[in-house]
Amino acid sequence: MPRQPSARSRRGRGRRRPLARARKIADRLAVTYPGTTTELCALAHRDPFELLVATILSAQCTDERVNIVMPILFRRYPTPQAMAGADRDELETLIRSTGFFRAKASHIIGASEAIVMRHAGEVPRSMEELTALPGVGRKTANVVLSVAFDIPGLPVDTHVTRLSRRLGLSGSADPIQIEQDLCGMFPPDQWGAISLRLILHGRRVCDARRPRCEICEVADLCPSRGKF
Ligand code: SF4
Repeated sequence: MPRQPSARSRRGRGRRRPLARARKIADRLAVTYPGTTTELCALAHRDPFELLVATILSAQCTDERVNIVMPILFRRYPTPQAMAGADRDELETLIRSTGFFRAKASHIIGASEAIVMRHAGEVPRSMEELTALPGVGRKTANVVLSVAFDIPGLPVDTHVTRLSRRLGLSGSADPIQIEQDLCGMFPPDQWGAISLRLILHGRRVCDARRPRCEICEVADLCPSRGKF
């Protein structure tokens, strides 16, 4: 007669199930949204500094709008040195359409100054150094690490927060806790791509107000299917 699983092994199995489901979700989204982190990133950029500035500009703004502003901005101020010495009024005018332009101008000039003074004009490659730059939080730092440098990083934005909760990957509303929960479920070399795929899925299918569960590729794995 087969042995009954002990209470401990039953608990262990229960813990493994969410992980198996999470990996199925990741596999499914990888088929739906194929590509590397660089290919999946919607912010047009040619180097780490451009990506850093684009990510700062993307706060409360669409990627499409940022992609319109970026070439004009970088034609005028093409390097960290030029951006650090930018005329503030002119910079604010150039980025005005992205919203919150005064704060963003301060962050861009401050971060550029710090990159020139502390990092010899090169965008640093660690979370600690990136988040020490003015206006750079964990989300922006994780974007730069994972997309520009292919270093493990899992950016948590509003889409990642919403989808993580709906998909039952995290019960938290705190971005740092969500980052920890997701990082614990997937190998480090997948962190950046998983974040970008959740963002794409949030934009295209799992809308904040009207999720389109009827066409969702992970509906059979989602505990929130049809609840909205
Ligand atoms: S099934 Fe619905 S709620 Fe769940 S991820 Fe898909 S669209 Fe979002």
